[in-house]
Amino acid sequence: MEEKLFRLVEKGTSAVMVVQDLARQLEEAGFEELDFGTGWGLTENGRYYVKHHDTALFAFTIGARAEFRNAVRIGAAHTDFPCLRIKPNPDISAGGYGQVNVEVYGGAILNTWLDRPLSISGRIALQSEDVMHPEMRYLSVERPLLVIPNLAIHMNRDVNKGMELNKQTDMLPILGLLDENIKDQKLLMEFLAKELQVEPEWILDFELWVYCAEKPQYAGMQGELILSPRLDNLTSVQALLTGLIRGKRETGLNVAAFFDHEEVGSRTKQGAGSLLLLTLLEKINDSMQKTKEQTRQSLYNAFFLSVDVAHGLHPNQMGKMDLTNKPALGRGLCIKEAGSQSYATDCEAVAVVEQICRKYKIPYQKFVNRSDLAGGGTLGSIASSILPVRTVDVGAPVLAMHSAVETMGTADMDGLTKLMTAYFSF
Ligand SMILES: [Zn+2]
Repeated sequence: MEEKLFRLVEKGTSAVMVVQDLARQLEEAGFEELDFGTGWGLTENGRYYVKHHDTALFAFTIGARAEFRNAVRIGAAHTDFPCLRIKPNPDISAGGYGQVNVEVYGGAILNTWLDRPLSISGRIALQSEDVMHPEMRYLSVERPLLVIPNLAIHMNRDVNKGMELNKQTDMLPILGLLDENIKDQKLLMEFLAKELQVEPEWILDFELWVYCAEKPQYAGMQGELILSPRLDNLTSVQALLTGLIRGKRETGLNVAAFFDHEEVGSRTKQGAGSLLLLTLLEKINDSMQKTKEQTRQSLYNAFFLSVDVAHGLHPNQMGKMDLTNKPALGRGLCIKEAGSQSYATDCEAVAVVEQICRKYKIPYQKFVNRSDLAGGGTLGSIASSILPVRTVDVGAPVLAMHSAVETMGTADMDGLTKLMTAYFSF
């Protein structure tokens, strides 16, 4: 399973590119692309997908018998990850260096972004004849392009006591060295114009992200660890997609939802806090000639798996873990619970997932936060407040969540994929 994950990490350099790679995999698996803006003629045994504003995607399959009551299964994961977002008018000239003005996107561990090969990915809007439809272009520079160097220890002897990085002034990456014979050189804008083969003034706006350009790699004596950027949350995205493609349910409706903007709160048109998923389910039911009442009944009995990474036990910081729940890397996926409902938590729903794991011999562990630590949240609770169905949070345990490079257990990718495949198979 790791080959698919590695490929998605290398191709999925921004949410835009994650969606493009998902679409490629779905096309290869025979899924048909739909458009939210048209009517759908869906059929039994159909396999479909639809993109939403380039960074969210929904894929779904309809069983040979389109009986949806007690038979709607949904999985969701997020396509975004902490990184640096390039600001408008990005070029900075400083002491012979061309730098790029950025803001921090999501809760990145800032110092892990220093001294790493970084690159650029995202989408660019160009002027067009039709003012309501600018020309959209996509870019993923798959080679190292930028770096944010540390300061030498000789210039900050206290660096190992911890250093606070200013999000505006300390995180500006270097894009290159300026030519001293050229005035007002704008390295990034010139680079973009050249890459896209357009005039710089045709570029109206962009969503460009600085991502970590390191490749995924194995570590450990037996290759039992994976070190990679974007494990949060491409592990879940790939497991969910593979599960949907391989799933073999005879009845019902299976949905894989890939939302953007989880790292900044989900409350956007492409996020899990929108009505998008509900609208999608209604549209599917309508186009299968279900009545409103049949739709309501099917949604009441639906099941929702929110798939996102969990925290594994850190050997140097054991005290940060809960007293009795200490999930280890490589020993199975985590079911996450929180009394605060920062993870969707419902014992009946959790028991369903445990029974699936037992039936299919999939190892699992439980994760809860220490009572004196707030921990993180996922899209599970946000989505389930709009689509009030039984919801469970699951995901692979990782170390250093939101670091530029995170660590996971190799075996956990297999377990997570098995769970998603089983979920869509019986
Ligand atoms: Zn996540």
